[in-house]
Order: sequence, then C-alpha cells, then structure tokens
Amino acid sequence: MAEQTSKKEKTPRQSMPEQKPEIRRRNFDEVPLGYDAETAIREASRCLQCKKPSCVSGCPVEVDIPGFIQLIVEKNFKGAIRKIWEKNSLPAVCGRVCPQEIQCEGECIVGKKDAPVAIGNLERFVADQERLHGSGELPKTQSPTGKKVAVVGSGPSGLTVAGDLLLKGHDVTILEAFHKPGGVLVYGIPEFRLPKEIVASEIAFMEKFGLKVECNTVVGSTVSLDELFEQGYDAVFVGVGAGLPSFLNVPGENLIGIYSANEYLTRANLMKGYLYPQYDTPIIKGKNVVVFGAGNVAMDSARTAMRLGADRVRIVYRRSKAEMPARAAEIHHAEEEGIEFYLLTAPVRFIGDEKGRLIQMEGLKMELGEPDASGRRRPVPIKGSEFILDCDLAVVAVGAGANPLLTKSDPDIHLNKWGYIVADPDTGKTTKKGVWAGGDIVTGSATVILAMGAGRKSANSIHNYLTWGW
Ligand SMILES: Cc1cc2nc3c(=O)[nH]c(=O)nc-3n(C[C@H](O)[C@H](O)[C@H](O)COP(=O)(O)OP(=O)(O)OC[C@H]3O[C@@H](n4cnc5c(N)ncnc54)[C@H](O)[C@@H]3O)c2cc1C
Ligand code: SF4
Repeated sequence: MAEQTSKKEKTPRQSMPEQKPEIRRRNFDEVPLGYDAETAIREASRCLQCKKPSCVSGCPVEVDIPGFIQLIVEKNFKGAIRKIWEKNSLPAVCGRVCPQEIQCEGECIVGKKDAPVAIGNLERFVADQERLHGSGELPKTQSPTGKKVAVVGSGPSGLTVAGDLLLKGHDVTILEAFHKPGGVLVYGIPEFRLPKEIVASEIAFMEKFGLKVECNTVVGSTVSLDELFEQGYDAVFVGVGAGLPSFLNVPGENLIGIYSANEYLTRANLMKGYLYPQYDTPIIKGKNVVVFGAGNVAMDSARTAMRLGADRVRIVYRRSKAEMPARAAEIHHAEEEGIEFYLLTAPVRFIGDEKGRLIQMEGLKMELGEPDASGRRRPVPIKGSEFILDCDLAVVAVGAGANPLLTKSDPDIHLNKWGYIVADPDTGKTTKKGVWAGGDIVTGSATVILAMGAGRKSANSIHNYLTWGW
C-alpha cells in the first residue's frame, strides 16, 4: 500500500489546456479547454481513495468525491456522473466556477505534500462527457403528486429546488424576471468562464422531465405572492439573489462612462452587448478602463473590458493581493491577460469633461492597519498620496445588496437589518406560511454551491410540507 501511495503521489497534477492569453484576451470563447479521457484518468489515478476523505467534508453538498474519481479510473464515466448527481445537480457549472481551492481541493490530503487532486477539473470532465456523449436518459421521477410549486428566480438555488421537487413528482414552474433563465450563471458570469450553452442545456434537460419556465415575470410586481397561492400554487420558493449593486459613494459617480458591474456584465453577457450592433445592446467600449473591487465580479468585469477592446485595464483595490476574494484561477487568468493591479489604492472622486463624460479619476494610496470586524487588516489612507489617473470607463464591483423587488412587496416576509430574508437555516422556511427562501437573498452574496445547498434543504422541507403538512 505504501508503495502504491508513493507511486500515485509521483504523478504530477495534470494541467488543463487553455487558450493562449494573447489570443483569448480578445475573444469570448471559454478559456480552459477541458481534459481528454486519458488525462482525466491519469489525474484520477492520483487520488489515494482515503478511508476518511477530507475532501468530502470540504464540499458544501458532500459529493462522494473518491467514489466518482474511482469510477473515472475504471473508465465508467456514466457511473461517475451518476455518483455526482446524487448530491449535485449542476456539476458542469460547479466544475467550472466553484472555489475548489478553499473547498474540496483545499482539504485534499495529496495537497499536503504536492498539488491537490484536481477535483474540479475531473467533475467538469464527467459532466461534459455526459452532455456531449451521454444518452440523455431521463432520471426516474416519482408519480405525480398533484401539488404545484412556484420557484421565484432561476439562479442555482431555484434550479436546485426545481430539479429536486420534479424528481419527487411535484408540478414545478419557475418564474423569472429576465427574458432568459439561469440567474447570475447567465447574466453575471461571462461566456469565457461559463458558456451559456451549458446552463441552457441543464435547464432544457429539466424541461424534458416536466419543468415549466415563465420568463419576464417579476414576482412582487407582475404578480404577488398571495396571487400565486390564489392561482393554485401550494408552496413558493424565493431565490431572487442579491442583485442590488453597491456604489463607491464618491463625487462624480454619475458621470457617463461609470457602470455598476451588474449593469456592465448584464449588458455584455445576457444582452450580448459584445456583439453590438448585431444585438441591439449598446455598451461603452472603454480604451482605458478602471475596475473597483477584487472579487470574482471585478475579475469578470476587467476581463470583459479587455475582450471588448480596451488598451489598458486596471483593477483598483484598497487592500493587498492576499485579501483579494476572487478565485485564485480568476486572478491568475486576469494577470496572464494583462490586467494591471493597483493595490492599496482607493478612489477619491471622478472627473468629467464638459459633456459629463468620465475622463479621469483621483486616487489615494493606502496602507494596512489593524484587523477590522471582518478579520482583514483595515486599509488606512496615506496622507498626501493623492494622484490622478486617466480613464474613459469605470466599473464598480464592490459588492451587492438584497434584491428588494419582491421582499418589499409582502410585509409577511420578515427581513433582517440588511434587507435579506429571514429563513430557517435548516429548512429555508420564511415567516410566511407556504413560502421558503434560499441562496444569496438569505445569506448575502455567496457562491453557487452554497445557493445550491440552500436549495436542496428547502426542497426537502417543501416536500415534507406537501406530503405530510409540516
Ligand atoms: C459576476 C459574478 C461572478 C460570480 N462568480 C462566481 C464564481 O466564480 N463562483 C461562485 O461560486 N460564485 C460566483 N458568483 C456568485 C454566485 O453566482 C451567486 O452566489 C449565485 O448565483 C446565487 O444564486 P441564487 O440562486 O441565490 O441567485 P441568482 O443567481 O442571483 O439568481 C436570482 C434570479 O432571480 C431573478 N429575480 C430577481 N428578482 C425577481 C423577481 N422579483 N421575480 C422573478 N425573478 C426574480 C433574477 O433575475 C435572477 O435570475 C458570482 C457572482 C457574480 C455576480
Ligand atoms: S482527500 Fe484527495 S486523495 Fe483523499 S479521497 Fe479526497 S481527493 Fe482523493
């Protein structure tokens, strides 16, 4: 066994081929190109099949990681995807966007001495195999219960609730405000990280086993929660996300050429602004772009601006690299594509021309002081360090708040002081009878897998309510 272990550890982590930075920085095609079968099997062979797999405890939905990896070693890709589906209904998405380095791969035992097993890449591989070459065989659903469920919002929390309840035989309709379903997976995360086709095919698959989707429906405005019950729905899940953009609150922020990341990415992604005028969505294509923030949203905005033809794109962030919250892979890809990082820098004001168009920003250098409430060292301004930077487009990606469209429309839904829905962490039950909630609208901006985990808990609780009345 010891001999086998050392042999396994000697196989280096298999890298995934990628589009070259100098080419991909000007196109919207996906950056990593995926493993072929041989590479996937070689990578899978690095797994030690631990008896107590620490990777599983690092996964928020507890996928049987050694189980599906062993099936890859045995070339049973169909079995591997089935194993993942037991716990995760969107593996092609999670394999691409989960922060594996702080979840499963962060806990992998191989990572103590060497690079961890590439669990995310393997998950993506089996999901892609199934999508491209699988039989499309539908999962077995239980006999119809006659109960109707409305799912408000089609992000990962709503899609998970819908998938789970369909399998249990309920009649599920998703109500979505936008003209296309998928939530942040389609309007936020860009094509070059998560091709829209993948999300569309996951939804089309669910439609085959009964899902109904009604787009252009804003619950709280087009129809109220009470009206949904009057229409015959027996339960409602609310997964409307945290789509309310936060701003910097500095002078000049309403100049032409300053977008919230939310608007910028929605125009570029969902409304295909990058194909203007073929698509009717104008978008400012800056040559000299600044992006504020250092999370995934900021990286996505910066890399989108580069693909839209910018000469220079600068990320302006008031802390240091160690505090940047984006996935490590996104920071690495952004650096490779020539995005510049202006760290320990904060904006003071924006400066416009006589037509109200952005032409410059004033910044201020910072240093790190004592830790703040978040545990991260607080940025402190350095006196007299002000400087001016030329820019013709600014994108503000400094966080988002609770989406108020629905929550403000119904006083029976209690909110916390930040405007997020109060819901039981174990069941997703809200303070209104028959209504559950989960995902970013409960936790604040988080991750795809956490939204899915919340969706799963709510689906179990809704099923109990519809079956037993509790
Ligand atoms: C640009 C960007 C990049 C990200 N990158 C990553 C990443 O790499 N990895 C990761 O794990 N997470 C990432 N995240 C976070 C992740 O996408 C979210 O945590 C997740 O999508 C939340 O899922 P959700 O189901 O709560 O809501 P959302 O995905 O926000 O979906 C909510 C849906 O509800 C709809 N809606 C809102 N109000 C109404 C209404 N009144 N009636 C009907 N429909 C309504 C919205 O249109 C939307 O479609 C990113 C987020 C953004 C914005
Ligand atoms: S911790 Fe790493 S080596 Fe162990 S089972 Fe999980 S993936 Fe395999």
